[in-house]
Amino acid sequence: MQESIRQLKGVGAKTAALFSKLQIETVDQLIRYYPRDYDHYEAPVPVQDLEPGKIQSVRACVIGAPSTVRARGMVITHANAGDVTGNLRLTWFRMPYLRSVLQPGVFRIFRGMVKRSAKGQPVMEHPRMFSEEEYGQLSGTWQPKYALTAGLSNHLIQKCVRQALLVSSFPDPYPPDLRKHYQLIGLTQALEKIHFPAGAEDVKQARRRLSFDEFLAFLVQIKRQKVKNDQVIVDRPMVPVSDTRRLIESLPYELTGAQQRVWGEIESDLQRHVAMNRLIQGDVGSGKTILAFLALLMCSANGRQGCLMAPTEVLAQQHYESLRRLAQTYDLPIRPVLLTGSMTVRQKREIREQIAGGQADVVLGTHALIQEKVEYRNLALVVTDEQHRFGVRQRETLAGKGDGVHVLVMSATPIPRTLALVLYGDLQVSVLDEMPKNRLPIKNCVVDPSFRKKAYAFLQAQIEAGRQAYVICPMVEEGEMEGVENVLDYTQKLRSVFPDSIRICALHGKMRAAEKQQIMEDFAARRVDILVSTTVIEVGIDVPNATVMLVENAERFGLAQLHQLRGRVGRGGQQSFCIFMTGDNSGQNNRRLDVLNRSNDGFFIANEDLKLRGPGDLFGIRQSGALEFSIGDIYQDSDVLLLAGELADRVLSGQVVLPEEELGLFQREIDYRTI
Ligand code: ADP
Ligand code: MG
Repeated sequence: MQESIRQLKGVGAKTAALFSKLQIETVDQLIRYYPRDYDHYEAPVPVQDLEPGKIQSVRACVIGAPSTVRARGMVITHANAGDVTGNLRLTWFRMPYLRSVLQPGVFRIFRGMVKRSAKGQPVMEHPRMFSEEEYGQLSGTWQPKYALTAGLSNHLIQKCVRQALLVSSFPDPYPPDLRKHYQLIGLTQALEKIHFPAGAEDVKQARRRLSFDEFLAFLVQIKRQKVKNDQVIVDRPMVPVSDTRRLIESLPYELTGAQQRVWGEIESDLQRHVAMNRLIQGDVGSGKTILAFLALLMCSANGRQGCLMAPTEVLAQQHYESLRRLAQTYDLPIRPVLLTGSMTVRQKREIREQIAGGQADVVLGTHALIQEKVEYRNLALVVTDEQHRFGVRQRETLAGKGDGVHVLVMSATPIPRTLALVLYGDLQVSVLDEMPKNRLPIKNCVVDPSFRKKAYAFLQAQIEAGRQAYVICPMVEEGEMEGVENVLDYTQKLRSVFPDSIRICALHGKMRAAEKQQIMEDFAARRVDILVSTTVIEVGIDVPNATVMLVENAERFGLAQLHQLRGRVGRGGQQSFCIFMTGDNSGQNNRRLDVLNRSNDGFFIANEDLKLRGPGDLFGIRQSGALEFSIGDIYQDSDVLLLAGELADRVLSGQVVLPEEELGLFQREIDYRTI
């Protein structure tokens, strides 16, 4: 199964190169390339049953000769077709030869997306066409749809997968009684059914089996990690210090009850002889950062080093600035430095020397903390912020930079307690279930573009009242996607809409790091009023004076992601607002977005998202970023996850012995983006 896909008939160097763009090099990887969705070839409907917005098949007779026109540099072919219940219009692009193929009076089955013309007539754009016989063969089947790359067709992938399934064999790692106990179909069967199911039931069974496998592999790994964690001995435990108490007492706000409780847990962990492994789980804005800072402070007051890793440079920079400010304001014994990938070689060398020499005791940074060869003098604590953006492995690499290192991870991913206990089996979990008192709930609205003028007026009024605003666009610059706003053009547009006194800046991931930093600093210092940005500001950014967020093309984002984005406002005592602007008014989208309208609670949103997707939605929008397995979905397949957890326990205690190689425990690099 580790054989190259070149072994397959019809796969030459050129096709193999295309496959490798999809990270498929071996036959095994091809078989594990699961479909994104399926095409269902149900019985064709009469014209009157066509529903705009759906992919359907219709049996209709070509009426009259097709016509062709030239537009936008291509040939467009139009034809009319109909049955006794009505007529529809068919349109194809760049297929001029259809003119001679489409004979008037011939019945064909057309399959494609149904739309409605301005006059209310059903239209199919670029439908596929079948004879009765061809369609009959497909009818009732489910055909897999794969994520494609240019030059590699769905049909070709299907053909290769079919062949790969024929030439491979898959020994099942589970004995039959165990399979029966957990109601799992065989592995070979599961792989066949996930690619070529006869219907919904097949997909369900295949998914159950395959997600069980990957959950099990993950959970065994997590549980082994837990055993290892419990053996990490700390030679010199820390002692409580007065600086942390002093800081807590002098902060301009009072810690919430939840923050106090969790700080108590961390403080006592740090005094133990076994290394801490703790997760702080708390919704956006619940105040996780100050807890990390307190831990880092305790660390340096104990004469030890600590570091904090954040997923973006913008966030790392922000943490650095806030900690430096805290240290200055309250005269804390802490010497923070910043280390990011975009610094010059010289800057980085200087910082590395300060870390190695012990002149710096708290290092804030990005992945650079792992990538750059940083030597610590006496590292005692590592913190990862927004852990769901990192892999478990990256966290471990960071912790491996010292002996007996304490680990603190922070995440806003909302997960029910029962699942958290399983998924975070290697960590102690602290939940921040209380928001700071000064917060007013964010006011939300979901609107269509006709509201844009009013939205701008609202932004202007807020800015004139001294506040700041974010505008989020899905894209950086003009792209292929029509009707989707991009940061660069939008910034220009806004500048022409608002008076010159309102300062507008663009921010996106393709900018140079120094430029991004400057813009964020300007925004934080109120030298910029409106920040037009992509989702680079999604995580962590904290500018409490920003009180309005306008999200363009909100329909293009997942609910969890929108919730994270929205977390950028409502971070101070001022009333904050979030306007979700949709480019498309379909009912499904509005229902989805309405969930955000109704609630500011990340946990509730994750649950509603799941309900809306429903059990029939096999490959719906995943929760953004968090806990991505290749087929299992922790929310949708939570029952399977819990069962796999049970088996993982039995594997660990030696009650059940499984061939690990076949479970993929050693073969596959298990580095899910998780927690
Ligand atoms: P998150 O949990 O999303 O990381 P942050 O730690 O960035 O949240 O905190 C959000 C904002 O709330 C920050 O401006 C922080 O200073 C402030 N904050 C934190 N704790 C409290 C509190 N107990 N009362 C009032 N404001 C707080
Ligand atoms: Mg944060």
